[in-house]
Amino acid sequence: MQTIQSYVLGRWTPGASAPVSLHNPTTEEPVAELRSGGFDPRAVLEHARSEGLPALARLSFRERGELCKALAGALHAKREELIDVSVLNGGTTRGDAKFDIDGAIGTLVAYADLASKLPERPFLVDGPGLQLGRTARFWGQHVWLTRPGVALHINAFNFPAWGMLEKMACALVAGVPVIEKPGTPTALVASHVAQVLVESGKLPAGSYQFIAGSLGDTIEQLGPQDCIAFTGSSATGAKLRASPAVVRHNLRLNVEADSLNAAVLAPEVEAGCETYNLFLANVVLDMTQKTGQKCTATRRVLVPAGRLAEVRADLVAELARIQVGDPADKATRMGPLASKSQFDEVRAGIERLARSGEIACGGAQAARPKGWFLAPTLIAARDAAQPVFHAEEVFGPCASLLPYSGAPEEAARIVALGGGGLVTSAYSNDNAWCERYLAGAGPWHGRVWFASDKSAEQSLAPGMVLPSLVHGGPGRAGGGEELGGERGLHFYMQRVAVQGFKGLVESSFGQAPAGSAV
Ligand code: NAP
Repeated sequence: MQTIQSYVLGRWTPGASAPVSLHNPTTEEPVAELRSGGFDPRAVLEHARSEGLPALARLSFRERGELCKALAGALHAKREELIDVSVLNGGTTRGDAKFDIDGAIGTLVAYADLASKLPERPFLVDGPGLQLGRTARFWGQHVWLTRPGVALHINAFNFPAWGMLEKMACALVAGVPVIEKPGTPTALVASHVAQVLVESGKLPAGSYQFIAGSLGDTIEQLGPQDCIAFTGSSATGAKLRASPAVVRHNLRLNVEADSLNAAVLAPEVEAGCETYNLFLANVVLDMTQKTGQKCTATRRVLVPAGRLAEVRADLVAELARIQVGDPADKATRMGPLASKSQFDEVRAGIERLARSGEIACGGAQAARPKGWFLAPTLIAARDAAQPVFHAEEVFGPCASLLPYSGAPEEAARIVALGGGGLVTSAYSNDNAWCERYLAGAGPWHGRVWFASDKSAEQSLAPGMVLPSLVHGGPGRAGGGEELGGERGLHFYMQRVAVQGFKGLVESSFGQAPAGSAV
C-alpha cells in the first residue's frame, strides 16, 4: 500500500493525522493511504514567499515558459506510468486518463508558447496609452505587474493532472509560486504527477509545494497579495468565500464550480445530417467520458417537443453501445465512478431526477456486482420547468431530456434556469437562430459553442477546455475565469494605471515599438 506524502519546504513529508484510504474504484480495494498534516502552514507560505517568489522573479516570462515546457517534457516521459495510476486510482479508461494527462501536458506547452512571445520586460502592457493633460505631456498607461504573493490552488478530484497544471502554468508564467492541494479521492494520481514535477529538478526552490489532505489553517495565514484558485462544488466554493481571511483581505478568489451545461437542438436540424449526428455523438461523449465526471459535461438536453420521441430513441440506442466495465480492458468505453461517495451521491441524484421524469435508460442500480459502476442514464423530464432538472448537478453519467418549443428565446430561458453555466452547445444551421440563442443564453455562460454542417467536421467537442479560450462561468458556475491565453496570467497580476510625464510613462511602460525585443 502506498502512502501519500506532502511536498513542503523542499522535501517529502509524511502526514500526522489518522489515515484515510484511497481505493481502486473497479475492485473497491484500498490502494493508498493519506494522512493530513505534518507541516506548519506559516512555514510553507514563508518558504514560497522567501524562496519561490524571488527565484521566479529572476526569470523572464520566456524563461518561465521554458520551465513549463520542461515540466511538460518530464510528464510526457512518464505518461504511461501516470496513465496506469489513473486507471488504478481514478477508475478512468486509458482514453479518459489521456484526456487528463495529455490535457495537462498540452496546457503547459501552450503557455510555454505564449510566454515565448511575451516581452523581456517584467510586466505586461494593457492597451494603448492615453493623453490625460491639455497636451500629450501628461500621459496614462495601464500595465500588469506580478503580485508578490502565493497562489493556493485547491483542485477537484476529477482532473488530478490537468486541474493542477492548468492553474500552475498560468501562475508560474506570471511569476507566482504555487501550493497545490489535490482532491483526496484521486490524490494518488496527483501525488505521482507531483513526484514527476519535483524529480524533474526544474522547479526553482519554493516555487512548488504540494499539500495532500487537509490544508490545516493555511487559508487563515494568507495575506492581501495572495490568491486562491478553487475548483470544486458550489458548496465548498461558498465556504471559501466566507473564510475570514478572504473577507478580511478581500483576497483574490477564483471559483470554478458546478454547471448544468445544456445542449440545444434547433428545430431545423434533421435526422441524418452532419449536425444531428454530431449532436448525438457529443451528447453521448459528454455523458460517458470520464464517467460523466466532467465539469463541462452536458447535463440537460433540450429538444423541440415534436422531436422528443425520435431523439430519445436515437440517444438510447447510442448509449446502449457504450460498454461499461473494467477500465483497464481496451474494449471498455466507460469505467466506474471515482469513489464510493461519488457512487452514492450519483445514485441518490438519479433517484431525485427520476421522480420528475421517466428513466429512458440506465438508472440508479449498480451496473456490476463489484466496483462503483453505473450505466449511462437518460431521464426524460415530464416538464422542462421542473426545478430539479435545473438545480441538481448529478456528477456522473446522467443527463435529462427536456422539451422546448424550438424558439431560441425559450431555449435560452430554460437553460438560464440553471443559474449560470460553463458552456452551452447549440446545434443549428440557421445563423439567425444562433444569434437569437446567443443573445439570451450568452450572458449566462463563459462559453457558447455552435455546431453546423459547415463546421461539424473540424469542431472540437464542447466539453473540451482549451488554453487559448476562457474557462469559467457566471452564477452557479462560480463566477470565475481561467485560461484564455494571456488573460489567464492576469489573476496573478495587478493592473496598475500609471500616470505621469509622457517621456517616462510611454517610453518605460508603453507598448514596445513593433519588432523590438523589449
Ligand atoms: P469538492 O468536494 O468541493 O472538493 C474540491 C476541493 O476542495 C478538494 O480538494 C477538497 O478537498 C477541497 N475542500 C473541500 N472542503 C474544503 C474546505 N472546507 N476548505 C478547503 N478545501 C476544501 O468537489 P469535488 O467533489 O472534488 O469535485 C466535484 C465538483 O467539482 C463538481 O461539482 C464539479 O462540477 C466541480 N468541478 C468544476 C470544474 C470547473 O472548472 N468549473 C472542474 C472540475 C470539477 P478534499 O477532497 O480533501 O475534501
